[in-house]
Amino acid sequence: MTGRQPDDHEQPAGQEQSAGHRPSDERALTSAQADVDDRAFETSLRPRRLIDFVGQERVREQLELVLESARRRGQPPDHVLLSGPPGLGKTSLALIIAAELGAAIRVTSGPAIERAGDLAAMLSTLSEGDVLFIDEIHRIARPAEELLYVAMEDFRVDVVVGKGHGATAIPLDVAPFTLVGATTRSGLLTGPLRDRFGFVAHMDFYSDVELVRVMTRSAEVLGVPTRPGGTEEIAGRSRGTPRIANRLLRRVRDYAEVRADGVVSREVARSALAVYDVDELGLDRLDRGVLDALIRRFSGGPVGVATIAVAVGEEVQTVEEVAEPFLVRAGLLARTPRGRVATDAAWTHLGLTPPAGRASWPGGTGPTLFDPS
Ligand code: ADP
Repeated sequence: MTGRQPDDHEQPAGQEQSAGHRPSDERALTSAQADVDDRAFETSLRPRRLIDFVGQERVREQLELVLESARRRGQPPDHVLLSGPPGLGKTSLALIIAAELGAAIRVTSGPAIERAGDLAAMLSTLSEGDVLFIDEIHRIARPAEELLYVAMEDFRVDVVVGKGHGATAIPLDVAPFTLVGATTRSGLLTGPLRDRFGFVAHMDFYSDVELVRVMTRSAEVLGVPTRPGGTEEIAGRSRGTPRIANRLLRRVRDYAEVRADGVVSREVARSALAVYDVDELGLDRLDRGVLDALIRRFSGGPVGVATIAVAVGEEVQTVEEVAEPFLVRAGLLARTPRGRVATDAAWTHLGLTPPAGRASWPGGTGPTLFDPS
């Protein structure tokens, strides 16, 4: 269970790769981060044009307007910031923006830009109208960020030559370009950087219906036969995330080929996901272990996260960053000032009856944790 990676975590600096995409083969099926296997498939599974991009209706419509008006003006569009959790399609959208503009795209990531000089070198090679995609842009080094402000606003970089008193800044022109920044942590973005984006898009988790559409397309591309109900079964367990849906589809396909007739049906998906330890809500062993400890050993809480971590034999950080975000989002666990509390839904999910009149949080039948009595 220790193989799973936190949803948004450090990656080695200096690598020019999509941030958040850490190489690791032994991670859980339910992580939103891309693994080596995902990356091998994602190139072929990515939607290429805006029309193929499933869901995110509002973002798509707004982006269509931004791109179309830029095309009519014959100028590069405003800089675009895409914000949202991993696996929701930010990189895909960046590639689509370039494709829709008929522009070339340069791809890098915040952690890869360690020095202002790295960025200046990259900016100086851009041609007019190019798209520069910086993934995990909130992790860009500060001096590079300051250089980026000027480049975004004035299409100019000031290259500092020399040191100390003799240092001089030589301004260099940069061809008008469009910056597309992606971030999983928009709150960590500095105000000045955020202000320089003309268009900010917030990506939401996908509905099951949308995930079915994503998988239907992926199944076609991969040549995986499906029966009605197959992709629906997987969608409900994909945590609202296309990357997870595509990964589960591939694992169910493997199972279907080895243990069944090769077709992804509801029955096959159910049996496969039972083998892979992904339950009906998309919880894996660690998630269920946390709920199980919380409920069976500590009567549903409140209990401190350090205690839970010991109970499940994991690091506190793993419990906090890997398991809890989805448990909270799914309404199964609440973080309260007095500790973690299992909600009634968590008890029910484990097949247990929540104790009546117990202090619960939220939506329980008993008094809340903050009732004075
Ligand atoms: P992010 O950059 O936000 O982590 P990606 O753009 O890399 O996410 O998306 C991960 C994978 O999920 C892509 O390879 C693509 O196959 C799939 N995907 C994401 N969003 C969509 C979408 N809206 N429509 C179809 N496929 C999608």
